[in-house]
Amino acid sequence: MAGSVKVSRLLTQTLRDPPADSEVDSQRLLVRAGFLRPLGAGIFTYLHLAKRSLDKIERLMREEMDAIGGQEILMPVVHPADLWKETGHWYDIGPEMGRLKDKSGHDLVLAMSHEEVVADLARRELRSYRQLPQLLYHIQTQWRDDPRPRAGLIRAREFTTLDSYSLDADDDGLNRQYRAHMQAYSHIFRRCGLPAVAVQADVGLMGENLAHEFIYLASIGDDTILRCGECGYSANRQVARVGRLPALSELPKPLAKVATPEASTIEELAALLEIPPSRTAKAIFLIATGAQGEPEERFVFVIVRGDMNLSETKLANAIRAREVRPATVEEIRAVGAVPGYASAIGVTQALIVVDEIAAESPNLVAGANEEGFHFLNVNLGRDYRADVVADIAAAEHGSPCPKCGAPLSAQRGVKVGNMSKLGSRTSARLGCTFLDSQGSLRPLLMGSYGIGVGRLLACIAEEHHDSLGLCWPITVAPFTVHLVLLQDASGKPSEVAEALYEDLRASSVEVLYDDRADSPGVKFTDADLIGVPIRLTVAKRALAQGGVELRLRTTGLTELVPPNRLVSRVLELQTSLRRALAGEAAEVSG
Ligand SMILES: [Zn+2]
Repeated sequence: MAGSVKVSRLLTQTLRDPPADSEVDSQRLLVRAGFLRPLGAGIFTYLHLAKRSLDKIERLMREEMDAIGGQEILMPVVHPADLWKETGHWYDIGPEMGRLKDKSGHDLVLAMSHEEVVADLARRELRSYRQLPQLLYHIQTQWRDDPRPRAGLIRAREFTTLDSYSLDADDDGLNRQYRAHMQAYSHIFRRCGLPAVAVQADVGLMGENLAHEFIYLASIGDDTILRCGECGYSANRQVARVGRLPALSELPKPLAKVATPEASTIEELAALLEIPPSRTAKAIFLIATGAQGEPEERFVFVIVRGDMNLSETKLANAIRAREVRPATVEEIRAVGAVPGYASAIGVTQALIVVDEIAAESPNLVAGANEEGFHFLNVNLGRDYRADVVADIAAAEHGSPCPKCGAPLSAQRGVKVGNMSKLGSRTSARLGCTFLDSQGSLRPLLMGSYGIGVGRLLACIAEEHHDSLGLCWPITVAPFTVHLVLLQDASGKPSEVAEALYEDLRASSVEVLYDDRADSPGVKFTDADLIGVPIRLTVAKRALAQGGVELRLRTTGLTELVPPNRLVSRVLELQTSLRRALAGEAAEVSG
C-alpha cells in the first residue's frame, strides 16, 4: 500500500493520559496513540492510522482466502426477518439481536451472521452437484448487542468480520474445505504476528469435534482453554472432556441415613463425615428451555461428583436445551427436593441428568431430601434413576486429559477465529438441495468460518507493545517509516528530511512524516506510542556526524546511515522484517 502522511495534517493527536474507562492495554494504547475514538458503548470510529492497519489485515485475509479458492462477495447488513424466522434464529436468539421495522412495519434484522443469506443464495442459484464445491466470503460489518461490551475492540457491539461459507455435496468435500480454512486461518494469524492456537469448540446442538476456535492466549481473555502438555489435546473449557480414571471397585453397600446437621455444602459434609469430596454427590437444579425437543421449560436435576463442577454448555448440548438457568428455591421444593440436602432419590417430576463419572462412582453420600440428613452408599440404578447419563462435568486445571490422562492446564484466551461444520442444519431448514450424480435430491452441506478484523487488530496491539507504546509487526503497521524532523535554525535538517520523504515515497515506502515544530521529547514520545517499525531522525548533530539516525522500534537497534544510503537500507530492513514474521510458525493443534 502506498501513501504517506504528514503528522501536521492528521486530524487527531496523541493523548498523554490514558482514557479513564479502558480496561486493557490494547485499548488504552489505541486510543492514546490516535488510532481509535469511542462513539458509544462498544461502538468506535477508526481513525486514519487504524484504517490503514485494518486495510492491511483485510488485504492479507483476501490473499489467503483467494489462495484456497474463495470468491469474494458482499452481503447486506440489513436482512428481512422472514429469512431468520425460517431458520428459527429469530425466535432462538435473545436481545443481542438487532431488530428494527421498516416504514411498512416489516421486521428487519441487523446482520450478526450471514448463514441465512448464504443459504438463501444457495437455494436460488444451485441446482446440480456440478456447481459444487463453492467457497463464498466477504468482509462486512455486523451487530451484536453484547450485554457487557468491554475491552474496547475485543468485545465491541459493532464490528467487522471476515466471514466465509463453504458449500459442498458430501462430507469429503466439507472436510476438505474445513482443512483448507484451518490452513488459511493459521497463515492469516502468522502473517499478522499473532500467536493463535486452534482448539476444539462448542458447536451448540451439533455434537463433538465439528468446530474449532482460534485462541490468542492472554490473561485478558474471556475464554478458558484446557491444554494437555503431553499429547496436545486442547479445547475450550465449555466443551473440554475430562479423562475417566478407572472407577473404584467397590460393591454397593446398604443405604443408610445419617444425621448431618448444618452440613448443607459439600465442604461441610466432607469435613463432618471425614471423607474426600469425591465420595459425595453434588446436586444442581436448573430450568432448561427446549430440553429434548420440548418447547416448554423443564426442571433439570443434575448430579456431578462432589469434587467436580457442571459445564452448562456440555449439559445444554447433552439434553439439547436452548437455554438453562438456575432454579429458584420454590421451583426446587416443588419437585420434592430440599436445597442443601437434596438427592434424586424419590424425585419424579424432573429430568435427571447424571455425569458419567458420578454414575460410575459407587457408594456416594447424597442428600436425604430431609433437612439435616444425608444417605450413605447411594448408587445409581439401585437407589435412583437417571434419564440421561452424559459427560457434563467441567474440565479444570489439573483434570486428567481425555486422551492420555496427563493433567490438563487451564489458560485464559481471546477467541480470534471460529470454524464450524454446519452440515445440513441450515440448508435443510431453508430447503437448499441439489441433484447429485444419480439424479436424487440431496441437502447441501455448509461450513461457516469467521475472524473479527477489529478484534484481531486489538489482539495484535495487545501482543505487540511495551511500556512506551505500540510495536506493530511490519505487515499490519500503519506505516513502515516514522520520519522525525528535529528542526534547526540553519534549515539543513529540514532540507534533508524533505528530500528523504520524497525519495522514500518514490520507492513506495509508506512514511509518517513528523514535520511539526514540537520538541524532540514530544516527537520521540509520539513515535514510541504509535509504534511504526522504523524510525528515522533527521537532526543537526547526527548530520554533522555524517548521517541520519535509524532506529528499530522493537529491538531499539540504532545505526547512523548516510542520507544517500537510507532508502536502500530501509528497503533491506523492510524485507528482513517481513521474512522474520513469515518464518514464525503459528501453532496449530487440537
Ligand atoms: Zn493428553
